[in-house]
Amino acid sequence: MEIKDFPKIDLHCHLDGSLRPEWIADSLGLPCDDALSKQLCAPKRCASLAEYLTRFSLPLQALSTADRFASAVEDVLAQAAAEHVVYTEIRFAPMLSVREDLRAEAIAEAAIEGLRRGTKAYGIKAGLIFCAMRHMSEKENLAVLELTRKYLGQGVVGFDIAGDEAAFGNERFADLFKKAGAYDIPFTIHSGECGSAENVRLAIEYGARRIGHGIAMIKDPHLMELAAKKRIGIEMCPTSNYQTGAVKDGDVYPLRQFLDAGICVSVNTDNRTVSNTDMTRELRFCRERLGLKDEEVALIHQNSVEMAFANAPTRI
Ligand SMILES: [Zn+2]
Repeated sequence: MEIKDFPKIDLHCHLDGSLRPEWIADSLGLPCDDALSKQLCAPKRCASLAEYLTRFSLPLQALSTADRFASAVEDVLAQAAAEHVVYTEIRFAPMLSVREDLRAEAIAEAAIEGLRRGTKAYGIKAGLIFCAMRHMSEKENLAVLELTRKYLGQGVVGFDIAGDEAAFGNERFADLFKKAGAYDIPFTIHSGECGSAENVRLAIEYGARRIGHGIAMIKDPHLMELAAKKRIGIEMCPTSNYQTGAVKDGDVYPLRQFLDAGICVSVNTDNRTVSNTDMTRELRFCRERLGLKDEEVALIHQNSVEMAFANAPTRI
């Protein structure tokens, strides 16, 4: 079967990194040309994670009003539905856009409205994940957790933390995730993207149901065993992982080893525009470069069904 015809699930997709250049151009009144594409799409290999992150500046500028948030969510859902994604979880950090005249609640409600409109228009199921940011204050991150709690079950399905993992390790966020657990909010934590297996271990200890990337686990067979035993979902994003250097040039992408270790692996886009990718390309990479068979692609889909934060994932 052709990958494009497979029903697909994308559990790790950032809103700001996945907006079409046309959408950004329209929002900011810019010409949609090669210069804009260069500002939005990262090269195949970035000099650093910092270089990759420069591509988020224009999208964040464009996410400046509640209406833009609603339209942005619709834009990503349209792209996903067009390549036969049947369920996706779109994540973003509300606090990056909060200003005096744009409150977090207004952003949340607009994104939920976009989700409602997009799922109806494109016949796709979807949920939102709100991200705390590693560099932000405890107060701001707690506000994101409370925002998640307030809208959980109304389109919002989970909580996450993103940002500079090397500078702000998971040990700083034990209380935040303890509270998320006490609220019974499903959460994933970006961990092991910067080489720290310890961050992955801590994420599992805090009760994360899923790990964003998890690449550093490959260095620690005991941790891989633990992740398999506890049925932790690993959200892998091949193109992005090579771009940011999480997986070095010439290194084998560790998805095959994780699968063989019985780990619940999913394959995702991370950032459709910044990484110039989609689910079809990511799964093609797995089949063509890692030699995954159709039944393994089907297993990855089944893992994503199991790991989805939505209330009734089996109905996907
Ligand atoms: Zn991510």
